[in-house]
Amino acid sequence: MIIPLVDLKSQYLSIKNEVDAAIDQVIRQNAFIGGKFAERFEDKFAKFCKSQHCIGVGNGTDALSIAMKALGIGRGDEVITVANSFIATSEAITQTGAKVIFLDCHPDTYNINVDLIEEKITDKTKAIIPVHLYGQPADMGPIRKIAEKYHLKIIEDAAQAHGAEYHGEIVGSLGEVACFSFYPGKNLGAYGDAGAIVTKDPEIAAKCRIIANHGRLSKYDHELEGVNSRLDGIQAAILAVKLNYLKKWTKKRRQNAYLYNAYLEGSGVTIPAELDNISAVYHLYVIRVPSEMRQKLQNNLKEKGISSGIHYPIALPNLKAYRYLGYNSSDFPFASKYQNQILSLPMYPELNEEQIRYISETVREVIS
Ligand SMILES: *Cc1c(COP(=O)(O)O)cnc(C)c1O
Repeated sequence: MIIPLVDLKSQYLSIKNEVDAAIDQVIRQNAFIGGKFAERFEDKFAKFCKSQHCIGVGNGTDALSIAMKALGIGRGDEVITVANSFIATSEAITQTGAKVIFLDCHPDTYNINVDLIEEKITDKTKAIIPVHLYGQPADMGPIRKIAEKYHLKIIEDAAQAHGAEYHGEIVGSLGEVACFSFYPGKNLGAYGDAGAIVTKDPEIAAKCRIIANHGRLSKYDHELEGVNSRLDGIQAAILAVKLNYLKKWTKKRRQNAYLYNAYLEGSGVTIPAELDNISAVYHLYVIRVPSEMRQKLQNNLKEKGISSGIHYPIALPNLKAYRYLGYNSSDFPFASKYQNQILSLPMYPELNEEQIRYISETVREVIS
């Protein structure tokens, strides 16, 4: 049985007619950059996030750096985030001129360990970027309390968590600003690069829109130097179609995660922890195995036609790119240990129970 890590083709085939018609419309109407298809999707996605404003941008990384710039973050500032994420999170901080401050992850959820935040706050700290990693919201209650106490901004990195919920509130409305990626493999994925910024604050929204579009107020009247990072019409039209299915797809992802949990129970692998009052959207299904067994497990899965991945094999502060910060891997004990133990199993809405059983049995054969 051949089982990929994600299966974008079968998803496309299930909605092909609608997607093809949407692309056709955009081309016929020459609405390539911005325009009505982009606006329609922005409205729709803001509503989906129970928020007010959505600014479509070129990708999720730009969404983060533009949002920070709109909040006035730049040179001399510090921004706190988590060691366990994709480099886009910290790259975007550095992009603004600010310094990235990494914290270790929570031992159970892989998200930012909220108990470590306060000791890292200095008079330069301007913001916290919690990452809702693998689709599970970070522990936003304590983060909000700390942010309030020290007057810090919260920028959600929601690139992996479209539609996830924290204590009944949806991701995208849990901080000042939220940033989304619509990279093809994300839970809501375009057919190219795309991203969005979501906020309830009209001033932040207006600033983000100006920055994302060359700092312009009108065609050739530029208030400042911005960047060129806009949502294109074709991606917006595709995303608008796919958004109609997102709740259904998310439900399938959650069901699939629980099937894995059941089939892997007692196997000796550590399954994902979903905290109380949380509805995770399982962008990835990540297990942990003893580090000395991971390669063997990956090999055996591969022999059986099953793809797996590692998200991420090197925790951010341990990357060469961050050597200049002078960290030691022992400064991040959990992220550093887990980078050698984590393994992402295939996860997508179209995955079926037979496949999950087959994958789980292969895992059991190696681990038990
Ligand atoms: C994908 C991702 C991003 C960046 O999104 P792009 O659209 O690829 O630029 C940012 N943060 C996290 C956690 C991601 O997974």
